[in-house]
Amino acid sequence: GDNTYTLERFPLDQKNRSLQAWDSGDEYLINYVNEHHSECRSLLIINDSFGALACAFNTLTVCSVNDSYISHQAAAYNLQANNLSTAQFSQLDSLSALPAEVDLVLIKVPRNVGFLQFQLSELSAVLPEGTPVIAAGKTKDIHNSTIKAFSHYLGETKTSLAVKKSRLILSQASGHYIATEFPVRWPLEGTEFTITNHANVFSRDSLDIGARFFFNYLPQTSKVRDIVDLGCGNGVVGLMVLSRCPNARLTFVDESYMAVESARLNIADNLSEQYDNCQFIENDCLTGFTPNSVDVVLCNPPFHQAQAVTDHIAWQMFKQAKETLKVGGELRIIGNRHLDYHDKLKRMFGNCKLVGSNKKFVVLSATKNS
Ligand code: SAM
Repeated sequence: GDNTYTLERFPLDQKNRSLQAWDSGDEYLINYVNEHHSECRSLLIINDSFGALACAFNTLTVCSVNDSYISHQAAAYNLQANNLSTAQFSQLDSLSALPAEVDLVLIKVPRNVGFLQFQLSELSAVLPEGTPVIAAGKTKDIHNSTIKAFSHYLGETKTSLAVKKSRLILSQASGHYIATEFPVRWPLEGTEFTITNHANVFSRDSLDIGARFFFNYLPQTSKVRDIVDLGCGNGVVGLMVLSRCPNARLTFVDESYMAVESARLNIADNLSEQYDNCQFIENDCLTGFTPNSVDVVLCNPPFHQAQAVTDHIAWQMFKQAKETLKVGGELRIIGNRHLDYHDKLKRMFGNCKLVGSNKKFVVLSATKNS
């Protein structure tokens, strides 16, 4: 329709306010659905970053599926901020069973083709033959492999012309289930552990080289310690700490549902006797954590969000780590040398020690003194 909404990116207090909460792919999808599917009553929406599609289709019954905890929060916030009803709106994480009874499926194409394959496979398991599936993405992010995935997991697939650098992929369900390889499993080098990763997990197919270097500089202690693995991904950092510190209590935090579930599986499978000393939490960094409550925060921070390269998440992580640490507690991070976290941590904590480095990475430690 011709409704106009005001949309915010999440979290609300990030520095770069010039980034938008929607893109030309959203606009293309909205116009296309209004033009060609005006009879549609129920929608399944997949990977809506900040709720733009949820707002635009608010008069329909909408189920929104997302792997991001922050996207869930953003959709709820933006609906409310625009005085839109949530009576016919529901949200699912990316590992929940999908609803089958929908008139139409809309997908924002993710960068990660494996994750797309997983999502299309999940659709193939539930959608009746003929259910239309329409995806949108930046032209530069739609490759042959993207289109192939749609025809492999669904059925006949066409693409639209580009409009403002976005394209649509038009497909429909075949009614046949096509499986994927996910979750994937691999041995963790130098250990007896086997790592299981869901499709949308950071460094899904092998150990991240930063994490590998970080392994050399993890704290070792026999004391009871409350340790947070912040941005845990598959949980390898916390897993290594637990294997060396039998008295540690570990809290694994990530904003990806698939990451948190992978971390949970990796502790359950590899260190089952320590599983009860662990918590697994989907969260936006450490928002809502009790101040002055933990001894150590470990972090291999991210540097992009929803396709935008930004360091605001790393800063939010460091700031909230400082709040959450006890006095005397330590934040220990690994970062690319060129990101220059050293100066900023020094300003934030009043101190920052170089614990280890190689050509590519530095491991830094900052202590909360007051
Ligand atoms: N610790 C893992 C490792 O070393 O292999 C993963 C590190 S990866 C560089 C950064 C992680 O931060 C990703 O798993 C990502 O999902 C997570 N992340 C990004 N934004 C986040 C946020 N706002 N709150 C919590 N975790 C976040």
